[in-house]
Amino acid sequence: MIAAQLAELLGAKQVSVNADTLAAYRFDRWCLKHWQDWRGEALDAPACVVRPRGSAEVQAVVRFSAEHNVAIVPWGLGSGVCGGIEPQPDQILIDMSAMNRVLSIDEENLLLTVEAGINGLVAEEAVAARGLTIGHWPQSIGISSVGGWVSTRASGQFSTAYGNIEDIVYAIEMVLPDGELVTLGKAPRAAAGPDLRHLALGAEGTHGVVTSVTLSLRRQPETQRFSAWYCADMASGFRAQREIVQQDWRPPVMRQYDASEVARLFPDYVQDEQCLILLVHEGPAPRVDAEIHAVESIMVELGLDPADAAAAEGWMSHRNNVPEWRDLLEQGLIADTIEVSGTWSQIDAIYEDVVAALKTVPDCVNASAHSSHVYRSGINLYFTFACMPEDASAMDARYLESWDRALTSTASAGGGIAHHHGAGRLRRDYLRHDLGENGLALLRKLKQAIDPQGLLNPRNLLPPEAPDEST
Ligand SMILES: Cc1cc2nc3c(=O)[nH]c(=O)nc-3n(C[C@H](O)[C@H](O)[C@H](O)COP(=O)(O)OP(=O)(O)OC[C@H]3O[C@@H](n4cnc5c(N)ncnc54)[C@H](O)[C@@H]3O)c2cc1C
Repeated sequence: MIAAQLAELLGAKQVSVNADTLAAYRFDRWCLKHWQDWRGEALDAPACVVRPRGSAEVQAVVRFSAEHNVAIVPWGLGSGVCGGIEPQPDQILIDMSAMNRVLSIDEENLLLTVEAGINGLVAEEAVAARGLTIGHWPQSIGISSVGGWVSTRASGQFSTAYGNIEDIVYAIEMVLPDGELVTLGKAPRAAAGPDLRHLALGAEGTHGVVTSVTLSLRRQPETQRFSAWYCADMASGFRAQREIVQQDWRPPVMRQYDASEVARLFPDYVQDEQCLILLVHEGPAPRVDAEIHAVESIMVELGLDPADAAAAEGWMSHRNNVPEWRDLLEQGLIADTIEVSGTWSQIDAIYEDVVAALKTVPDCVNASAHSSHVYRSGINLYFTFACMPEDASAMDARYLESWDRALTSTASAGGGIAHHHGAGRLRRDYLRHDLGENGLALLRKLKQAIDPQGLLNPRNLLPPEAPDEST
């Protein structure tokens, strides 16, 4: 019924109830769902998949949803890793990937406007052809959409200099749950009330459907160079990174791997169980030269040893190669990554506590971390854990226990529980650690005001108020 009515609105080609199509949209890249699917568990599929071709069609679908009280789940390119997409059999999945046009490239003001479903790499290549760059390079750039970046508050690998998505977004067009279209963001900077773009940034499809995005571009850097350093332990590396950013140097990439990750990811560069810091320097040649020189002085003064810059160059060329969940599951491993952040005063404890906490989970075979996004006030940490239970039925429990221990330890040490992957269904019960109970109550009030019928991606992001509401 739902599909037939939507087909009348959008045309039959834009609506699918084909079983294979519905199955392909049951979940995003959340490891737990891949595991459940792999072991043959039946997972819910949406009632239908619609593929709007423009904002007006999105409005039509949203108005239909409001009129018939049918929920909608937005899908960008499905690369989210926190369970932001889990459509139920009575819900419409709105696949944004047919809205993939470049709408304008303004070379004078360095602005790019795209439809929200465009693949991030396609958008980057469109501006690269004009000598420009978005400067937003998530590892998933080739499998994620610009609307998804906005909706999850994504971070790119070059964020230390170029900022996270909230620093790059200029304007956002969004269809609200009542079907009205709103454009948020108008000028290079505004003091015209609260910044309403933040109602879309990180909303994970719960406040509306993002239909187009304007991003602030930069010219491609004149020079790119690499450097690398060893540090005796994570704490001494953090100290060096703090000194670099607080002296106002901005290498776009600074990544620090603990000894365990050096052994696993950079076996050619292992040296005495030391940690490894990789840097990419970009910009006008004289500034890059000055930065490399300044970084060298800081590192030497703090007692770090130089490493082969080829390690950083190698990272650059292979940086987006990752195993599929299935490859790991086939080896009997349930694994994931957990990104958190903390101030410089907190980060040593967060690193030590979380690694120790992960190792207490039964069947843990890996607990390691690297940092990858640096701020004047602090830094992120990106933990990797893997468990290999002999009894496969323990996998869900090991997985959820690892997440629980990592997030609880981070929060106890004062850190933030989500640096850039969003919350989805995986982190929603931990959101109170970051927002506080009153902050969470405020977010609920906002959701209620924006989406009184609760039709936009229900049960995502916000924890259920009553336990039995949980999916
Ligand atoms: C291998 C790999 C590497 C990754 N690396 C990074 C990384 O470096 N940095 C990073 O930040 N993330 C990374 N991610 C996570 C993921 O790619 C990002 O969260 C990305 O922003 C999701 O974009 P998407 O288009 O795939 O969104 P989806 O997965 O389709 O959706 C994500 C959420 O946003 C909502 N949504 C999507 N589009 C819209 C829209 N147009 N309007 C309203 N709501 C919408 C969905 O409902 C869902 O809740 C990685 C993921 C993988 C699998």
